[in-house]
Order: sequence, then structure tokens, then C-alpha cells
Amino acid sequence: MPDPDLRRPNFYASCGLDRAHDRRGDPAWLAERLADPSTLLVPVWRQRNLFLQVEAPRARFLRSDEAGHLIEQAAGLALLGLHEETTYIALDLTPLAAPEPGPSLTEDSAFQDIRAVGPLLAHWEGALLAYARGMMYWHSRHRFCGLCGHPTESLEAGHLRRCRNPDCRSSHFPRTDPAVIMLVHDGERCLMGRQAVWPPGMHSTLAGFVEPGESLEDAVAREVAEEVGLRLDLRRIAYQSSQPWPFPSSLMLGFHARVEPAELRVHPDELESADWFSRAELLNSPENERFRLPRADSIARCLIEDWLAEGR
Ligand SMILES: [Zn+2]
Repeated sequence: MPDPDLRRPNFYASCGLDRAHDRRGDPAWLAERLADPSTLLVPVWRQRNLFLQVEAPRARFLRSDEAGHLIEQAAGLALLGLHEETTYIALDLTPLAAPEPGPSLTEDSAFQDIRAVGPLLAHWEGALLAYARGMMYWHSRHRFCGLCGHPTESLEAGHLRRCRNPDCRSSHFPRTDPAVIMLVHDGERCLMGRQAVWPPGMHSTLAGFVEPGESLEDAVAREVAEEVGLRLDLRRIAYQSSQPWPFPSSLMLGFHARVEPAELRVHPDELESADWFSRAELLNSPENERFRLPRADSIARCLIEDWLAEGR
């Protein structure tokens, strides 16, 4: 078992910001921060983040004196938090028209899906940009009240939307949807499957959303039974780590689950194929169209690497 003290956080987690919860209810402070030239705006445009177009991808932040005029045009904003002396604020620039291809705000930058460059980013930048994207997505989906249909307004520095209907006034908070992801193994081999829509050769651990009324362990056992027909003992499902996956709004909760070797019954609606793989096969992954491991920034990859480390 890897020493948990030495385990690095999963990608897109732990960006290191002080989320400044106690400042969210102070609009005057937020206005002052928005006007301060040291504040960095984190632009999001139609779920894409802004990147410097240099050899190694870097986040392109905008200073308020550089992009203050964009605040007026933004669909919304959210205080992300503070790091040392700098305030980070996400800005949804979706209303801006965009020439195709390569919508750009500045000559040195372009909007891109973070997943195209994710593993190449510095850890904290990946986590910060994913957080910004997740917040802006939530705002874009909650402009109207789910109870009465009236428009909502953004409050608490972008961390609350409240219905404007005086007879309703329902509060809506940013949400994240729990999903379980599990490496199933028999001690010697682990189970990996693939979906037909994935890139050629890519295999991964099984995963699925938690349903109401389920514990996380219940969800792990149900998904494994549905996808490959294996019965899990709930007592042999062990939590490993978690990862925000705001693409668009999930929190991945990672588990290892030990089973006795058994025949797989792959459900064709869920998976194209599934099979057992030894540690040696994974360590020698050819990374080609026949077999490749899940992407380096995914918790699936971390679950596999943790399991490989246990066997050393
Ligand atoms: Zn309402």
C-alpha cells in the first residue's frame, strides 16, 4: 500500500486556493477586488478555458485593467478564491461572438477544452481552470428556477443563485454529481473494460453515477453487476481517493474492490468488451490501437497505478 502521506492529490483537485467563504457575502469587497489591477480573471468561453499559445500549455489569466470592459459583457462571474496576494475570479464570456477557428481575446491566447491539454498543465493551474469551468457551467444551467420557472440572480460572489419570484425565493447552490469508479481485481489481475465510443484501444476501470438511496459501496456493487455480471462483497470495497471531474459536473469517488475470479458477462449496452489484465500486462502496456491505459490526468489511471504499486 503506498504511504498515503506521500500520495500526490489527483489531477484537477487541490488547487491550493483559500476559497474565501467569509468574503462571499460582501459585494463591496468583490467590486473592489474586481477593480484591483492585481486581480486575475479566469475566462471561460462556452466551457473552454483560455490558454497561452506557447510550447508548453499555460493558463492565460486576464488582469482587470486588461479586460475590465469584458466584465460588463460577461454572462456571470464567481469568486474562486485567494492565493497569497492575488484574487482569482472566473468570468463567463460565452456571450462574446467568436470568429472560427480559434476564438481569441488576445494575440497570444486561444480558448480550448482543458481536456485537450490537461496532463501537460501545472497541477494547480489544471485544478483552478477546472474549478472555473465547473462554476460557469453550473451558472449556465441555473438561470431559471427549477421550482417556478422564474429567472434567478447570482449572489454570494457567484456561489448562490436565488429565484427572483417574490413568492418563491428558492436558493440554488452549486452542485456536483457523485460518480463511483472502481478498480475490480482478484489479487493478481484487474478488470478493465472499454466503451465503443472511446479512442481505439483505450481501456479503463468501470464507473457510473450514484443513484438516490445508495451508499457509495452499493453503487460500486450495482455498476459492476450491471456491466460485467460480477457479484461484489460490500465488505471488500475499499475507498482510495477522489477527483473533481467538472466535465461537466461530476465528483469521481475511487475504490478498489476484490473479487474471487469468475466468468464475466459483459452487458452489451454498457461496454463493448471487458477482460482481466495482469500487472505485467499493464506495466508493459503497448499504448497502441490494441491496448492503451486511461489518460494520465484521470483517477482511473491513479487507481491502476496505486494497484500496480501494491504489487511491488
Ligand atoms: Zn422560483
